[in-house]
Order: sequence, then structure tokens, then C-alpha cells
Amino acid sequence: MRQTKIIFFILFLPILSCNKKVVNTVPSPTTLTDTSHPGNPYYSRTDTTVLHVSDAEWKKVLPDSIYQVARNKETEEAFTGKFWNATGIGTYYCAACGNALFRSDSKFASTCGWPSFFETIRPISVEYKDDHSYNMERTEVLCGRCGGHLGHLFDDGPPPTGKRYCMNSIVLDFEPDKK
Ligand code: FE
Repeated sequence: MRQTKIIFFILFLPILSCNKKVVNTVPSPTTLTDTSHPGNPYYSRTDTTVLHVSDAEWKKVLPDSIYQVARNKETEEAFTGKFWNATGIGTYYCAACGNALFRSDSKFASTCGWPSFFETIRPISVEYKDDHSYNMERTEVLCGRCGGHLGHLFDDGPPPTGKRYCMNSIVLDFEPDKK
């Protein structure tokens, strides 16, 4: 019985601590360097202009799997996203708009099942919003350019910041550094 309880906590505690609403997203078969965004005129790795695009418009230009997380604030299932245990050297961008978010050297091996970072590339890479949903007090992390939901921020990260940006893989693009 005690063993059953331990297994339960190992399996479900990360879900409870990170996010509650869960959507099942199958890992993408595409490579980590897939930067094509056909049909999305708002995607840019160089234009940092803040976007004011309606959810109805995002629904037209984003794949549904990205839309459900970025605009409907869904959460991918733990340990299913393409980046939760990725270790490549490079830069992570918003998959909806191309905004630069994280460098790989701020990514750390978290046990929560979602890609986790201790700091953003720039302070304005993201925005924060109090999230009182599901009877929890959390800090939501949104893209600083398009306002899309990325994940949540927790205070249990490693030095030097002590922060854990708990992100959804599906709303991240990764570009490896050129060698
Ligand atoms: Fe964005």
C-alpha cells in the first residue's frame, strides 16, 4: 500500500505542481529545426513589434495544437512534449510569433515533465499575469510579443534566479546554434 502511494506521488505530483488542465499532444515527428510557418503572416524572428491579433485571427493562422495552448491556455501532457528533456544548444522562440524567449543554457533538467528554464533571454521576452484558476495561486507566463500563453512561473528553480519557467513544448520552436 505504501509503495502504491509512493508511485502515485511520483506519477502525479509534477502534474499538480505545474499545471492542471491537460491536453494530450503527440510529439511532433518534425525535426527540432522546423522553422516553417506556412499561413502565419505574424511569425518573425526579427520583428519585435508587439502584436494585437484577435483570437479569431490566430485560429485561422495557427495549427490547432498550438492554438489550444497559446490562446485557450490548454496544457500539454507531462513528458509528452518534444522539448521536456531536450539538451541541444541554441535558442527557443515562441511558436506562434517567433519571439526569442530562452537560451538553452538557461534550461535545466526538471523532473516535472515540461521544458524548464531559470531565466528568459530579455526581461521583455515574456509578460506575467496572476492566475487564480483551479483554486490555485499561480503566475502565468505569456509571450511578450503576441500575448500567447506559454506556461507558468514557479519559485522552485535552481540558482542563480531560483525561478522555474515551466513551459509547454508545443508553443516553443528551437533553433540550434550554427557551428
Ligand atoms: Fe509569441
